[in-house]
Amino acid sequence: MKLVRSLDFLDISSDLIIDLALQAKLLDHGRLALVGGAVRDAFLSDLCSGACQRTPDLDFVYEGDMNLFCIRLQAYFGLQRMQQLRLHDHFGTATLQLDSVRIDLASARLETYPSPAENPLVVFSSLENDLSRRDFTVNAMALVVNADGDSELLDPYGGSHHLISRELVFLHDESVSEDPTRVIRGARYAARLGFSLGTQSIRQVKSTLQLWPWSWRFGDPVDLVPPALGTRLRMELELLFNNEPWPQALSSLQDWSALSLLDQNLQNDSLLYPRLRCANRLQLPLLCALLSAAADPVALSQRLQIPGQQQRWLEELLLFRRWLETDVLITSWGEWDALQWTCSLEQECWTPEVVALSICDHQVCWRPLLRWWGRWRHVSAEITASELINQGVPPGPRLGDELHKSRLQAIERMR
Ligand code: ATP
Ligand code: MG
Repeated sequence: MKLVRSLDFLDISSDLIIDLALQAKLLDHGRLALVGGAVRDAFLSDLCSGACQRTPDLDFVYEGDMNLFCIRLQAYFGLQRMQQLRLHDHFGTATLQLDSVRIDLASARLETYPSPAENPLVVFSSLENDLSRRDFTVNAMALVVNADGDSELLDPYGGSHHLISRELVFLHDESVSEDPTRVIRGARYAARLGFSLGTQSIRQVKSTLQLWPWSWRFGDPVDLVPPALGTRLRMELELLFNNEPWPQALSSLQDWSALSLLDQNLQNDSLLYPRLRCANRLQLPLLCALLSAAADPVALSQRLQIPGQQQRWLEELLLFRRWLETDVLITSWGEWDALQWTCSLEQECWTPEVVALSICDHQVCWRPLLRWWGRWRHVSAEITASELINQGVPPGPRLGDELHKSRLQAIERMR
């Protein structure tokens, strides 16, 4: 059944979309369709009377030559209206800013996966095939736009039905094995939209991750992991922490036994939420804090290729945890005062972020570590260098010693 409706319900500039459709038609009659989040959120907004907000970026699929289409758009809209055109001719994609709306264009394509979790092979194809490569049924709907302002809904997988039942459903049984990042995407959408993952889809997540179908296994050298998988997982996790209600998303991932995709310790960790809440308060990067609870944080951080500095914090965290065990926890540390804590920590030159990550472990001595991190390390000398010089202390090492002594005296007076 064809559902034809006016574009006005989209709540985004329908004139702009009609202009784009007209240019597509004039070029070679290739179909132009709005796809992805904009279609899903517009229908959802319709269902719940405008309750669904979205950022105004639009994904379009075009059945035709992207290079020629972009040349045509440039000529029609001109530089004033169309800024920042980035054409990736080889991939058949383009990103542009049109009347301040961010637009992603892609030539319709079919993707096949040479082996699980590897990057797909791409051939240009029809709009219907393009929908078949997508993650969830609610994201596999397309609004084919006509130059007369009407649109026709393509919904081959029943996405509109699943919008009503508020369910996320994979398109086929191999979806997770083809691209495991879809599980993280599912947790993001579930948390953001208040949807649940369909029963069959949860079964697919659990059975696929249990079988672990990829050539790399835990314990193998990290450089043998399909690099694309590590990078894509990290990007999805960053979006989860930066843009979504992450506590709900993480709890979904644990419910679906999906954190085993990263590490079994994370899957079994019942204190994951307090750890991340603490990291959030201490303004630590949440992904780094998550990885700190893994069986081997360093190997996992390399697998996901998180920033080098954060990888180094995780390496140092392992040393710091060992230092706590061998040099602190076996002493009468409960009687240590501010000065002794400060001297012990600063003598070893521990990085503040590493101490903060350890505070999130919530081991027995987290309180004095937090006091050092939050207060003691910021205490400065009670006298300035110029005051000391005025008192006759010569510039040089002695001046540094005096300033240091004055700082320690200030800390000693603290509780
Ligand atoms: P939003 O932009 O609101 O976060 P979105 O659904 O538009 O949501 P995008 O990441 O912009 O998400 O991707 C656009 C569309 O591309 C998705 O709706 C989905 O159809 C498809 N897509 C993106 N990533 C994948 C993936 N890993 N597997 C399959 N399809 C994907
Ligand atoms: Mg989008």
